[in-house]
Amino acid sequence: MSEPVSTSSRFLARHAGQPLRWLAAVFVLEASAGIATGTEPEPAERATTIRVDRASFWYERLPRWDRREPWEVQAAPPGSSLRLERAVREVLAVHAEDFPLPPPLSIVVQAPPREDLETLLGYMANRTSYGGARLVGDVVYIDVNQSVFTGPDALNEAEIRAFLGHELVHAYQYGAGHVKLGHRQIWRREIEAYQWELANLEPGVRAAYRGDIHVNLFMYAEMLGD
Ligand SMILES: [Zn+2]
Repeated sequence: MSEPVSTSSRFLARHAGQPLRWLAAVFVLEASAGIATGTEPEPAERATTIRVDRASFWYERLPRWDRREPWEVQAAPPGSSLRLERAVREVLAVHAEDFPLPPPLSIVVQAPPREDLETLLGYMANRTSYGGARLVGDVVYIDVNQSVFTGPDALNEAEIRAFLGHELVHAYQYGAGHVKLGHRQIWRREIEAYQWELANLEPGVRAAYRGDIHVNLFMYAEMLGD
């Protein structure tokens, strides 16, 4: 696997900077949309797909520790990656115009690699964001952090769909060739993704999540200053 070409993630405004202990272990699935057909095509012609790599969800297989332990060391509820798979299908079905299939690049929705948590950046990202989208070679990896499913800011179904839509906007941005790492380009891409969320907000999205969208939009707009 090559180095990430580009990365971006969404941040929770309200819990950034909290201390955290981390622990880990793992799980499995596989879902796809826009799948290849019949005979095996040449690699260069292989159809791009979107799939949820359920095998990657190590935090769904953590031991069921005492509930008094911090949420970070507890397993995500059983079926979390299935929820995610269902949510991906729903977002793609409802927003077929925004996310036409097959996707411009293959997209893998996964738990962030467990070893990433051993780096400070990975550790903090897991603690302070729901996830992010990375372009590695010609595949977009949408990392879904444990905080989506567990802890004080766990998301409901409508919020999971909003979060996934945000990351899919990034995946399609990469597909359109928007992979430059300049700060201002990244901020603009974030604004586009948050605006997509606002434009498609479902009634089930709670005030805290909506608030984070507005805080982030304000922050990026301020940083851009235009
Ligand atoms: Zn983003």
